[in-house]
Amino acid sequence: MMLEVRDLKTQFLIGGRTGTAVDGVSFSVDEGQTLGIVGESGSGKSITALSILRLLPRPFARNAGGEVLFRGVDLLKLNDKQMRRYRGHHISMVLQDPMTALNPVLTIGDQIEEAIRMHRKLPRAEVRRLAIEMLELLRVPAAARRLASYPHEFSGGMRQRVVGAIALACQPELLIADEPTTALDATVQDQYLRLLKRIQRDRSLAIIFITHDLAVVARMCDRVAVMYAGRVVERAPTAALFAQARHPYTQALLRSALPEIPDRNARLYSIEGAPPSIFQPRHGCPFAARCEHVMPRCREEAPPDIEMGQGHAASCWLLA
Ligand code: SF4
Repeated sequence: MMLEVRDLKTQFLIGGRTGTAVDGVSFSVDEGQTLGIVGESGSGKSITALSILRLLPRPFARNAGGEVLFRGVDLLKLNDKQMRRYRGHHISMVLQDPMTALNPVLTIGDQIEEAIRMHRKLPRAEVRRLAIEMLELLRVPAAARRLASYPHEFSGGMRQRVVGAIALACQPELLIADEPTTALDATVQDQYLRLLKRIQRDRSLAIIFITHDLAVVARMCDRVAVMYAGRVVERAPTAALFAQARHPYTQALLRSALPEIPDRNARLYSIEGAPPSIFQPRHGCPFAARCEHVMPRCREEAPPDIEMGQGHAASCWLLA
């Protein structure tokens, strides 16, 4: 297995209080596979990704347990210098907003070339050739000429491609894409996702796709982990999740994304309430306050992870 995350816990220490943002998360992803991580804002998806790459600010954030095994090496045990070698070289990340990932005062060429030079000692001409190759891979027209352009001279879709070129410049084995298409319109999103699929196929790239968009999950992912309140509450092959979601939260997410009645006047279903704060004491099932099936037991004891076979599991007392 390329990446195995086992019982990962991440806490924040803010204003003398300790909050648990990632609470015992486990999943794995192998070469050429795409794992989708879905959930509402604040479910812990992005914090999980940043925890894997150890990019959270210290001392406010800290690892409170678990393992992140990349080809058997626990990334949480590496020193900072060793960890820097893994970032970019083995694992890369693409963020939602390309403008936050790009430096507005450096040319696109400088930024891609810097990413290549950080991990590979190559002659200058070779670095430039690779930078052009990366832009061409991401289908940026007139790549050689566009190296001299600045981020503001690109459209949103093209900027996201440039971010992709930087992320893939060091030929990582695993790409973590955090809502990479949220800021793009439907046509550009479609092109970007096709491109990502093609690159994945050509390079046996593993992808962790973080999104709240279930249509993107259906299209891109082999397996899905549904997160709520810092926990994975259901995991399944994508087809099984869409055919027969077992956790009430997953069912509600699906209902809110796909209205049952195709009535133009019907309001889209939305899940009442909000996820619990990371500082809230944890008793029982974290979804209890919003669950329409809640039972007294749910408020007292956390439900166990129930395996239903073929990689499908969910944490809910209804299944026990
Ligand atoms: S354990 Fe109880 S509250 Fe939690 S999802 Fe299942 S039924 Fe709902």
